[in-house]
Amino acid sequence: TALLEVNHVSKQFGKDALALSDVHFSVQEGEFVSIIGPSGAGKSTLLRCINRMIDASSGEITFDNMNVMNLKKKDLKTLRTKIGMIFQHYNLVNRLSVIENTLHGNLGKKSALAGVLGLYSQKEKEQAMNILHVLGLDEHIYKRADQLSGGQKQRVGIARALIQNPRMLLCDEPIASLDPSSAKIIMDHLRNISTTMGITVLVNLHQVDVALKYSDKIIGINHGQVVYNGSPKNITKED
Ligand code: ADP
Ligand code: ADP
Repeated sequence: TALLEVNHVSKQFGKDALALSDVHFSVQEGEFVSIIGPSGAGKSTLLRCINRMIDASSGEITFDNMNVMNLKKKDLKTLRTKIGMIFQHYNLVNRLSVIENTLHGNLGKKSALAGVLGLYSQKEKEQAMNILHVLGLDEHIYKRADQLSGGQKQRVGIARALIQNPRMLLCDEPIASLDPSSAKIIMDHLRNISTTMGITVLVNLHQVDVALKYSDKIIGINHGQVVYNGSPKNITKED
């Protein structure tokens, strides 16, 4: 069954900027789906509509049987817990340690202000350590975020998303600021999270070759419209 359904979604910015036009696709539970397209195609706008950082102008979005575009405040919180976000620029709190940034996913802004590990239970800390271990960050747990390389920062970004037990990860250009070898490590982790944890992954990429290698399904968008929706195997140069 579909975990996410995007039905005829459009997004208009101002008078004549139509960032998304009648976008229509679905994502099955556990699927690894890449959204590809050139800069300005509408990829980040689409992700922002799905997690309600912005409101779509028209259409319907259903996630885990919730009507995304019509949620009460409390349900919006539930939605954001079920959807883990990964960003191109990591969005870590520089002066906090790796484990604090990870736990931050659970407590929100307050923990960033306090910045003390004492706020968290032993159980929460163990859970964070386990996730950081899976992501190969054992040696870096107490380092400040700003002492890490880009690839390490992005792994902390993934850890922070995972600690809230999401159903889906929404990744907005997660490897766009990384060198090829760090990018491969991040993509391998995302693929592994999908395969072994059953977490659905929806990722914006502008590197077509990477998308073809890792994805179960490809959504191609250009000028705000879906121009391809299918298996990476059937994609041709013309697409
Ligand atoms: P992509 O992620 O594929 O690079 P975006 O979703 O960022 O594309 O942008 C799609 C289009 O919408 C672009 O033309 C962009 O300039 C426009 N756009 C995005 N956000 C805004 C905004 N907040 N206000 C006005 N236009 C926007
Ligand atoms: P990214 O590198 O993540 O694609 P962008 O440069 O597209 O970032 O957008 C950065 C911010 O500016 C976003 O909040 C986006 O909504 C906003 N934005 C993008 N395009 C426009 C635009 N044409 N007019 C106003 N805001 C925009």
